[in-house]
Amino acid sequence: MRNYLLPDFLVQVGEGCSACGRCARECSFGVISMESGRPVARHSRCVACARCVTFCPTGALRVVPNQVAHRHNPYWSVSLRHDLMRQAQTGGMLLAGAGNDLAYQSIWDHLLLDASQVTNPSIDPLREPMEVVTFLGAKPSALQVEARPEGTLRLAHPLPPQIRLEVPILLGAMSLGAVNLNVHRILARAAQETGTLWNCGEGGLHEELYEFGPSTVVQVASGRFGVHPRYLERAAAVEIKMGQGAKPGIGGHLPGEKVTAEIAATRMIPEGADALSPAPHHDIYSIEDLAQLVGAVKQATGFAKPVGVKIAAVHHVAAIASGAVRAGADFVTVDGFRGGTGAAPKVVRNHMGIPLELALAAVDDRLREEGIRNEVTLVASGGIRSSGDMVKALALGADAVAVGTAALVSLGCTLCQACHTGRCAWGLTTQDPKLAARQDLEEGVERVGNLIRAWATELREVLGALGINAVESLRGNRERLRAVGLDAETLAVLGVQAAGRE
Ligand code: SF4
Ligand code: SF4
Repeated sequence: MRNYLLPDFLVQVGEGCSACGRCARECSFGVISMESGRPVARHSRCVACARCVTFCPTGALRVVPNQVAHRHNPYWSVSLRHDLMRQAQTGGMLLAGAGNDLAYQSIWDHLLLDASQVTNPSIDPLREPMEVVTFLGAKPSALQVEARPEGTLRLAHPLPPQIRLEVPILLGAMSLGAVNLNVHRILARAAQETGTLWNCGEGGLHEELYEFGPSTVVQVASGRFGVHPRYLERAAAVEIKMGQGAKPGIGGHLPGEKVTAEIAATRMIPEGADALSPAPHHDIYSIEDLAQLVGAVKQATGFAKPVGVKIAAVHHVAAIASGAVRAGADFVTVDGFRGGTGAAPKVVRNHMGIPLELALAAVDDRLREEGIRNEVTLVASGGIRSSGDMVKALALGADAVAVGTAALVSLGCTLCQACHTGRCAWGLTTQDPKLAARQDLEEGVERVGNLIRAWATELREVLGALGINAVESLRGNRERLRAVGLDAETLAVLGVQAAGRE
């Protein structure tokens, strides 16, 4: 069949080219090759990962959108027309990586934070203590204390298991298979060094990383990949994955060619076999079923560690979160529709789920109305891009945020959305050992660690400007938010007033 597709991008080689061949070596998509001593580009293969541009020593390369490929039409976008052509050629479902890139309104960008002035003085975070420590785990609504014979006080009832996070920022779930072991090594060490947690995702935990157990959240997902007693034993916390923001309502598919010996051993499946995560957990069709699994995991871990539930932000997210809390979840992760993925059907990634901002506010409201908000730690994930988004998420009701895509970007990801091809030029979402080796462990740990430290510093700065000295006081404090350019219905869901209102 004739190919009507024109390239999305054009690779331009400028006059400064010294013919060193670096771009050809860096390109993992077979775009650039050296022919007669000069780089030659097959434009149609280019995904604009920008690896070649970054590493060209003379700055001679440019990757530009192929603007003349198709006449501009804001309704029939170029990407939409290309998808139609691809489907006409293949008759198949389109896959995509990374996160939803459609231009839905970003509510974060319509929210603004308050600041102290005159009567409510701000606090200088460099001079005053500023508490950003957060505890992951269920909290009692009230503490009961009793007197000891020697006159001191002690808690009348032990607290449910808690994990101390030095910052309210977790590293979100990315499975071994979606990313490679090198990336897991980086995330595990970065979490350990910054006093937070990383999440190994649904593909199991490689034995080599067991030493990072105290910094690790392990997942139990519908495929039960890699779930065994030692896995649960090693973890700091266990997360039952019911849904994922990037692909709510569907399972996952790791093609056999990505199931290397390492991944096969970790997932406990045969090498080279497709790893299929079913859409539902085949033993969960009700909140009571979920409660059974939460209870089973708690029992298996001796009631010694928090057990959480991850849900995708969908229409009835507040009721689902409430059910998860009543099922015994110590933490609930709400994953918004901007969350990333290694691979998802494009139609699901782009059109299913709801924005995290609205889901978060709705969940926080519902749990407060039902008087169970304190019984759970609420983690917000799915498209948190900056410390600004993080602070707004906390003010909307989250105890902590989890970041995935932002961490990958700190490691070089350029959001080229080609994760599903397995050819990630930055060595992230690939199992090719040569590509994976592009991630230097020490540098990666420093990059992700720096990101967390930078956001924590910015959080302290913002808390100071708000005149509060503990992140606890920001949680659900929507009074410190105002909105610009949002309609009345959205404001009502957010529980936020329009800017200018007292
Ligand atoms: S990396 Fe830059 S200088 Fe080297 S061959 Fe490619 S375009 Fe030329
Ligand atoms: S992880 Fe790699 S393939 Fe995926 S969007 Fe980022 S750079 Fe592209």
